[in-house]
Amino acid sequence: MQQFKSLADLLDLQDVDSQIDRLLHERSNLPALEAYKKAHKAHEKANATLAQLTADQKETSLTLDKHEGELELFEGKIDAHEQRLFAGGLSARDAEHMRLDVASLKKRRSTMEDDVLALLDTNEELEQAVAKATEVAASAEATMKTHEVEVAEAWKRIDGEIARKESRKGAIVPLIDADILELYESLRRHKEGVGAARLADGICGGCHLTLSAAEQLEVLSDEPPRCLHCRRILVV
Ligand SMILES: [Zn+2]
Repeated sequence: MQQFKSLADLLDLQDVDSQIDRLLHERSNLPALEAYKKAHKAHEKANATLAQLTADQKETSLTLDKHEGELELFEGKIDAHEQRLFAGGLSARDAEHMRLDVASLKKRRSTMEDDVLALLDTNEELEQAVAKATEVAASAEATMKTHEVEVAEAWKRIDGEIARKESRKGAIVPLIDADILELYESLRRHKEGVGAARLADGICGGCHLTLSAAEQLEVLSDEPPRCLHCRRILVV
């Protein structure tokens, strides 16, 4: 009779353990958790893109400043040459020489101006790209935080349920024979979390296979009774 009592408690324990297993499975397989992981990756990627574009834009801006400075100095040089020519007083040979110099400098200035314009274009494109990447990163962060909150709320609920089940389990375990408990835990590890099952209408609740009347008699004479097919502990 004591054995019967102990085995009935074992089914209660199996029930609670299965519920805890389901909760743990739910905890690590939340759709929100998957969404959070994806959003976290997207956020990291968006931040990396933003950092790269910001660095590129900064570098282009510095290069642009340098080129604009050089162009300004160059223009000053051309102005000085032209003023000198305009002021007169040069020999024909020197004046001709300076005119050729100015023509050559102006040609070079034209190339420098093209460079500055190209840099202005690139800089503007990069500024726009940085602005867009900033929006993308902010949106990715918001999405990530939304899922983070969802996960935290779901985990809080699940952890609360697990704590209640654990407390119930704590009350059942002392009622069960230590050897039976050890066998049950070992079976659970190897048989998808099910170590004990009900034998009803000759069918094992663990593997769902049928035991003949003779097999049932044989099984029930064992202590504890165990399914001939799956070796789980059977509770009548
Ligand atoms: Zn079985």
